[in-house]
Amino acid sequence: MDFRLSEEHEALRASVREFAREVVAPVIAEHYEQHTFPYDVIRQMGKMGLFGLPFPEEHGGMGGDYFALCLVLEELARVDSSVAITLEAAVSLGAMPIHRFGTDEQKAQWLPKLCSGEALAAFGLTEPGFGSDAGGTQTRAVLDGDEWVINGSKAFITNSGTDITALVTVTAVTGTNPDGSKELSTIIVPTGTPGFAVAPGYSKVGWTASDTHELTFDDCRVPAAYLLGERGRGFAQFLRILDEGRIAIAALAVGLAQGCVDESIKYAKERHAFGRPIGANQAIQFKIADMELKAHTARLAYYDAAARMLAGEPFKRQAAIAKLHASTIAVDNAREATQIHGGYGFMNEYPVARFWRDSKILEIGEGTSEVQRMIIARDLGL
Ligand SMILES: Cc1cc2nc3c(=O)[nH]c(=O)nc-3n(C[C@H](O)[C@H](O)[C@H](O)COP(=O)(O)OP(=O)(O)OC[C@H]3O[C@@H](n4cnc5c(N)ncnc54)[C@H](O)[C@@H]3O)c2cc1C
Repeated sequence: MDFRLSEEHEALRASVREFAREVVAPVIAEHYEQHTFPYDVIRQMGKMGLFGLPFPEEHGGMGGDYFALCLVLEELARVDSSVAITLEAAVSLGAMPIHRFGTDEQKAQWLPKLCSGEALAAFGLTEPGFGSDAGGTQTRAVLDGDEWVINGSKAFITNSGTDITALVTVTAVTGTNPDGSKELSTIIVPTGTPGFAVAPGYSKVGWTASDTHELTFDDCRVPAAYLLGERGRGFAQFLRILDEGRIAIAALAVGLAQGCVDESIKYAKERHAFGRPIGANQAIQFKIADMELKAHTARLAYYDAAARMLAGEPFKRQAAIAKLHASTIAVDNAREATQIHGGYGFMNEYPVARFWRDSKILEIGEGTSEVQRMIIARDLGL
């Protein structure tokens, strides 16, 4: 058993750590405050190859693995979560379905520009009326000659309305299965297709420098060849994508939790009260020790889930455990880091205020904590 990183992973982590500190940190507070998408940062991440990390070189990727993506997400989120979730949604939710389920033509058409970061893909599963219960999907797609005609709407879709968004993969009801249940399929809808409208961005509590929109499809027509994978496999496809995505969200949550430790150590040494640094008080030291403990154990949980996934072993339960644990401790650490910063922790100019605002969504997105518990319990045979 060896938890040390390979030389390649170590080098990648070091370069992204430096990038996050040198490039992301100086500009992100302004984007966060203004609710603007950090195009320049994203462009530089594209040049570093981060959007192509787990994809084959023949499609413009870096030929790395999913664990490499997780390490990068952790390092980015240690400084900022809007940038991290932009990468997570673009790679794990956006491009991955095309890589996993697409035809050779679809891969050749889309993956090179998605891997370079010049274009982003979004994943349209959630609807205004159905999130956790994704089987309740109402959006419909009907085959009319050699075109799909799509009608419906999707809610909270990350990366769906940037200037560089190229497509959204949309889950839709395409018929009825022999047992009477809904036949779900996934269809690629390029940005700008007539009948596909992107609403103005949501006003969010956190992740304010990331891009999130409601989408509507009104007699939106795309070629039949834009079906992703087999007709009727939509349910199985999004379950696979979400299982993997949970490891990535866990890594992102660990990054936020570790960022809280970093900022708290710094502040505890600088801030004085009663004639000495607040970090001289054991009450503050214990808070930080507990925060480090939580970040460390959550990291081991996502390493374990990723190792199982890369070994081709079942990893559903471990991914749910990692996501549930990491998101819980990220909220804990953000709350404690804010407490350590006192009144300044409530001021947006301090990174911990961003961490606090960004932490809550981790217990909701890509499956709520309740859904993770359902997955774990089901996997235990309950
Ligand atoms: C900023 C942001 C970005 C997002 N990005 C994307 C994206 O890119 N693509 C995408 O498809 N979706 C995206 N989502 C949607 C996200 O995945 C959903 O919000 C999430 O899955 C929860 O669904 P919901 O909001 O409909 O809540 P609901 O499913 O309505 O749940 C409401 C509450 O009820 C609980 N609940 C539901 N069912 C049960 C049950 N059986 N037992 C116990 N409790 C239950 C839930 O846990 C939750 O606490 C995003 C959301 C946000 C906020």
